[in-house]
Amino acid sequence: MEKIVALCKRRGFIYPGSEIYGGIGGFWDYGPLGAELKRNIKNEWWKSMVYGRDDVVGVDAAIIMNPEVWKVSGHIAAFADFLIQCKVCKGRFRIDALNIEKFYNFEKELLEIPKDYDIDCPKGHKFEFDMISEDDAVKGGVRPHKFNLLMPAYLGVLEDRQVKVYLRGEITQGAFVNFQNIVNSSRVKIPFGIAQIGKAFRNEITPGNFTYRSREFEQMELEFFIKPNDKEGNKWFDYWKEQRMQWYLSLGMKKENLRFRKHEDNERAHYAKSAEDIEYNAPFGWSEFEGIHHRGDWDLSRHKLTYKGEEAGEEFTPWVIETSGGVDRSALFFLLNSYYEDDKRVVLRLHPKLAPIKVAVFPLLANKLPLVKMAKDIYHNLKVQINGMIAFDDRGNIGKRYYSQDEIGTPFCVTVDFQSLEDKTVTVRDRDTMKQERVKIEKLAGYFKDNLS
Ligand code: ATP
Repeated sequence: MEKIVALCKRRGFIYPGSEIYGGIGGFWDYGPLGAELKRNIKNEWWKSMVYGRDDVVGVDAAIIMNPEVWKVSGHIAAFADFLIQCKVCKGRFRIDALNIEKFYNFEKELLEIPKDYDIDCPKGHKFEFDMISEDDAVKGGVRPHKFNLLMPAYLGVLEDRQVKVYLRGEITQGAFVNFQNIVNSSRVKIPFGIAQIGKAFRNEITPGNFTYRSREFEQMELEFFIKPNDKEGNKWFDYWKEQRMQWYLSLGMKKENLRFRKHEDNERAHYAKSAEDIEYNAPFGWSEFEGIHHRGDWDLSRHKLTYKGEEAGEEFTPWVIETSGGVDRSALFFLLNSYYEDDKRVVLRLHPKLAPIKVAVFPLLANKLPLVKMAKDIYHNLKVQINGMIAFDDRGNIGKRYYSQDEIGTPFCVTVDFQSLEDKTVTVRDRDTMKQERVKIEKLAGYFKDNLS
C-alpha cells in the first residue's frame, strides 16, 4: 500500500487534495495519469453497461436536488454512521470496525452496548466506553453516536434566507426521480436499466486507507427495473452479480483477489431487500468496492412512481436491482492488483484498456535528428489513430525509459533506431514479456489496435 501511495504521488496518479495549503482530509486530486486511469475505467463501464446492451439507457442528473428527495428516500433519517468513543485514547471508531453490530436493536433502531463489554481498542489497548454526547447514555451502557453522512450546502445569496440543501450522498436518486421522464421520453420497456456515473459526497467520519474512504468520490451505478415478483428479483439479482464480477475479471482483476460477501440482516442499508458486495483482498483486509442491491420497490414507491405495463389497465411499482460501484475504489484496486516488482523493475500490469498511456515512442538517441524526426512523426500519427494517450520520451537511455514506462503500466514502447531509417521498421517492446519485435511503421497503428483491445 505504501509503495502504491508513493508511486501515485511521484508519477502523477493521485495527490492529496489542496496539498499546498496543508491538504484537506478525505479529498484527493487525480493527476495526469490518474485522470486517464479513471476515465478509462468509466469508459469501459459505460461501454459494457450502456453501449453493449439494448436494455439500458444513461442519465446524468444534478448533484444538488430538492432536499425533499433525501427526506423521502430515507437518507435524512437513516443515512448515518454510528461512532463509539474510547475513553483511554479518545479515538472515535465506526462500530463496524469494532464488530459490535450484534447489539443493534432493530425495533428501537439503536445500538446499546453493555458498559462492561470486553473488546480491544483498534489502538491496541482495552477499550473503555465513553459517551460522545449526553444523549448517548442508556441504562447500563452506552449508545454509539449517530452521525448523518449527508453533506449540507446552502443555496441563496442572502444569508438569512439561505435554504439548506445536500450534496448527493449517492447518485442513485437521480435515476429514480427521472424514472417517469425517461419512460415517457425514450422507448424503454421493463425490464430496463438506467445507468449513471457521477460524483457523490459523504461526511465520512473516518476517511482513510488512501482514496478508499473519501468524502468526495465517484460512483458508477445501474438501476435495473423489473416486474415485482421474487422469480424476477432472484433471476436479475444473480444475473447482475455475475455480470459485474465478470467485468472486473475481464479487465485483469485476479480471481483470488475478489470475492462476494452477503450482507447480514443487521448491516443492510435501509433500502435493501438483499445485498452482496464484491470485495477486494486489499492490504488493509477484504474491502467492498461494489454492491449489488435488491432495492425492491423502496425508492419508486416512496417517490410515488409507477409503471404502466403492456396490458390494458396494468400498472405496478417495479422492483429495482442495483449495481453500485466506486470509481475511486476500483482505480485503487486495479492499481494494487497490477503492481509487480522484482529486483530489476517495477511494473503496473494494468489491462491495456485501462493503462493511462497506451504507447510510448522513443528515438534511440536524442541528438540524432533523423531518428528524432521519425519518432515524432510516428508519435503524431499514433496520436490520431489510437484512442488514448501516446507519449514521447527522449530523456536518458532506453533502459531508463523502459523502466519509467513499466512503472506506470504503458503496455508498449516503440523505439526508432538506425535500422528504422533504412527499412522503415521499429522495435516494439511488450511491457509484460519484455519481448521485442520489429514491426513495419505502416502497420503500427493496426498492430496496436489489435493488441490494445
Ligand atoms: P462502506 O460500507 O464502505 O461505507 P457503503 O456500503 O456505504 O460503503 P454504498 O453506499 O453501497 O457503500 O456505495 C456504493 C459504492 O460507492 C461502494 O461500493 C464504494 O465503491 C463507493 N463508495 C461509498 N462510499 C465511499 C467513500 N467514502 N469513498 C469512496 N468510495 C465510496
